[in-house]
Amino acid sequence: MIKVEHLAKSFGTLQVLKDISLSINKGEVVTIIGPSGSGKSTLLRCLNLLERPDSGKIIFDGTDILSGKVKIESIRKNACMVFQHFNLFNNKTVLENIMLAPVHVRCKGLHGAKRKEEVKKIREQAMALLARINMQDKADVYPSTLSGGQKQRVAIVRSLAMNPDVILFDEPTSALDPEMVGEVLDLMKSLADEGMTMVIVTHEMGFAKEVANRVIFIDDGKILEEATPEEFFNHPKNPRLKDFLSKVLV
Ligand code: ADP
Ligand code: MG
Repeated sequence: MIKVEHLAKSFGTLQVLKDISLSINKGEVVTIIGPSGSGKSTLLRCLNLLERPDSGKIIFDGTDILSGKVKIESIRKNACMVFQHFNLFNNKTVLENIMLAPVHVRCKGLHGAKRKEEVKKIREQAMALLARINMQDKADVYPSTLSGGQKQRVAIVRSLAMNPDVILFDEPTSALDPEMVGEVLDLMKSLADEGMTMVIVTHEMGFAKEVANRVIFIDDGKILEEATPEEFFNHPKNPRLKDFLSKVLV
C-alpha cells in the first residue's frame, strides 16, 4: 500500500532522515521504535505530507505522492494521523470534531436538501463511532471536559470517520496517565483485528510485541533493524537496538 524509497529530510543543516526505505502492506500493523530525536515523528509526518521530504519517493497505492500531481487533501484523507496531544479542536464539541473533516470533504458542492441529507448521514456515522467507544453521552460536550483517554479515543474515531486507508499514530499513549493507556491500546487493538492498516510510533513494547506484524527500529535517521516482533525483541541483531532494549522495560 505504501512504499518509501530512499527518503531524506533535513531541517537546515540537521539531517533528520537518511535514506529511509520501507514498505507497508494493506492490513499490516507496523510499529516504529527508537530513541527520542531519531526522526520517528518526521518520518510519519512525511508519509501524509505534513512535512515535505527533500528527496526519495513515497508511493501510495501505486501513485508517487511527491510528484506534485497529487492533491495534499486527498493524501490527508487517506492517511489520517493521530497525535500524542490529541489535536482536537477545543472550541468544537466532540461530535463537531468528528464531523468536521467528513463534512468538509463529502459536502463540497452540495446545497440545500442534498447537503442536509449528507450532513445527517455523517452525523449518524459519527454517533455510531461514539457508540463504539461508549461515549454517546459526550457528543455535545467540549474536549476540555474529557479525560486524556477519552480525548485520544475521540481523536481515533475522528480519523475513522474519514474511512482512511491507513492510520498513522505518533506516540498515541505517551501523554496519558498510566491508567488510561489500556483503553486507548484496546481500541487500537480492535482496529488491528478488523484489518486496519496502521503505522504506530510507540514506546509500548508489550503492545508492539502483541499486535505488530513488524517492528522497525530507527536511530539517528536510519532504519537499523526491521523484523517480526519475535525476532525483534528476542533476537535483536543491531548493537544499538540491543542497547536500546536493555534500557527500556520489555
Ligand atoms: P522523534 O519523533 O524520533 O523524537 P523527530 O522526528 O521529532 O524525532 O525529530 C528529529 C530531529 O529533528 C530532532 O532533532 C528535532 O529537534 C528535529 N526537528 C523536528 N522537527 C523540526 C522542525 N520543524 N524544525 C527543525 N528541527 C526539527
Ligand atoms: Mg516524536
